[in-house]
Amino acid sequence: MANENGSLNSNPTMDTRGKTITCKAAVAYGPGEPFVVEEILVHPPQKLEVRIKILYTSICHTDLSAWRGENESQRAYPRIFGHEASGIVESVGEGVSEVEEGDVVVPIFHGECGECCYCKCEKSNMCERHGVNPMKKVMEDGTSRFSTVDGKPIFHFLNTSTFSEYTVVDSACVVNFHRSDHTLALKNLTLLSCGVSTGVGAAWNTANVQSASTVAIFGLGAVGLAVAEGARARGASKIIGVDINPDKFIKAQGMGVTDFINPKDGEKPVYERVREITDGGVDYSFECTGNLEVLRDAFSSAHAGWGLTVILGIHTSPRLLPIHPMELFDGRSITGSVFGGFKGKSQLPHFATQCGNGVVKLDHFITHELPIEEIDKAFDLLIAGKSLRFWLRSEGAFEQCARAKKENKWKCTRLCFPPSLKPPYICTNVKGELGTVHE
Ligand code: NAD
Ligand code: ZN
Ligand code: ZN
Repeated sequence: MANENGSLNSNPTMDTRGKTITCKAAVAYGPGEPFVVEEILVHPPQKLEVRIKILYTSICHTDLSAWRGENESQRAYPRIFGHEASGIVESVGEGVSEVEEGDVVVPIFHGECGECCYCKCEKSNMCERHGVNPMKKVMEDGTSRFSTVDGKPIFHFLNTSTFSEYTVVDSACVVNFHRSDHTLALKNLTLLSCGVSTGVGAAWNTANVQSASTVAIFGLGAVGLAVAEGARARGASKIIGVDINPDKFIKAQGMGVTDFINPKDGEKPVYERVREITDGGVDYSFECTGNLEVLRDAFSSAHAGWGLTVILGIHTSPRLLPIHPMELFDGRSITGSVFGGFKGKSQLPHFATQCGNGVVKLDHFITHELPIEEIDKAFDLLIAGKSLRFWLRSEGAFEQCARAKKENKWKCTRLCFPPSLKPPYICTNVKGELGTVHE
């Protein structure tokens, strides 16, 4: 860290590289139990792994389902949840070449190894080794990089585990934003880690929404609203939002949603109401709730002959699709979308540039900001339908270097001074925007 004169006399990266770090994390000890925010040990990254200092993380509904232990087979405790985040590389393991200490990065739950048959195929964003796998609890070598201070292993979650000040991920699950030309604040990069990329990508990559087309979105959480942003950007003429929470419509109007249906209002099934206002059904419907009855409604809302339904919701129940095979003869089709069809490592930097240019507006998605200690409150607000996305910030996000303090203008993370980084160094200002103040 810089001393009062602004010169570098010691460096936290050098201090911690290759060593176990003691830091704070929100640990889940049982389904639906309050998080325990405690000191844990984060062990050094092994071969092809990256240790990240997490500066911001947020909560997605998938974290909520996993924390509740909705699917019994996924239950494993103690565990560190969280998969939407942004941060800075603290150190790398053997063989990692695409990121280095000090790089601004986003961890992704759906990785891209670049080598497997899926990664090499333009048609898919699956990855044989590092794709999303809710059953995976440990790193590739079968061990965990987290433990309690008394040495008990803590399980990983969705390739990421971001409710911690430090995490270790496979290099296939890290996107490097350091050298891309985007103008996004570090905080906003967090949204690209899951929700916004998933929703916008479903509209762009999976459905390929066309100009002047009609769209219905079931579930107006961050994922559904990101679908709306994506459809609005593509010039959809009508975007119908369906949600049981009427408060969601107020927010949704500013994000491209033109019509609102509350399934609890009126006698008619939702699909009939959608068909009435669209002359027979929408061109594209998106299911963003993880509810099978809603999925049925979404499917029936699509226009016969060409309507496409995209499933985004995570369905934790073992029940099967409520659709008879012969119904597909009416020309409606149905597909799923994971991470919006984006190949994370290779395509997100360009997506960030598009977001920075205003193609997709990110500011509406953040409704709250809290320190990580208040994670239980953040979960309560999501459950109550009062929030979209949070910034849960680590202490490190507010550390100031000497120059920042002196100028009383910039707040930079300590890790803006890794020894490997050549000037100008990247810092964040008080708003969390990236800047280059240290020449
Ligand atoms: P959220 O909790 O913020 O939003 C869900 C919305 O659905 C809420 O507004 C809620 O009121 C609404 N809703 C619930 N039941 C409903 C019903 N019966 N009819 C209409 N609306 C209803 O969740 P989110 O973070 O936006 O995530 C949405 C879904 O997407 C979750 O299932 C999540 O696990 C999943 N997800 C999938 C991917 C993927 O890659 N496919 C990525 C992220 C999230
Ligand atoms: Zn998510
Ligand atoms: Zn792969």
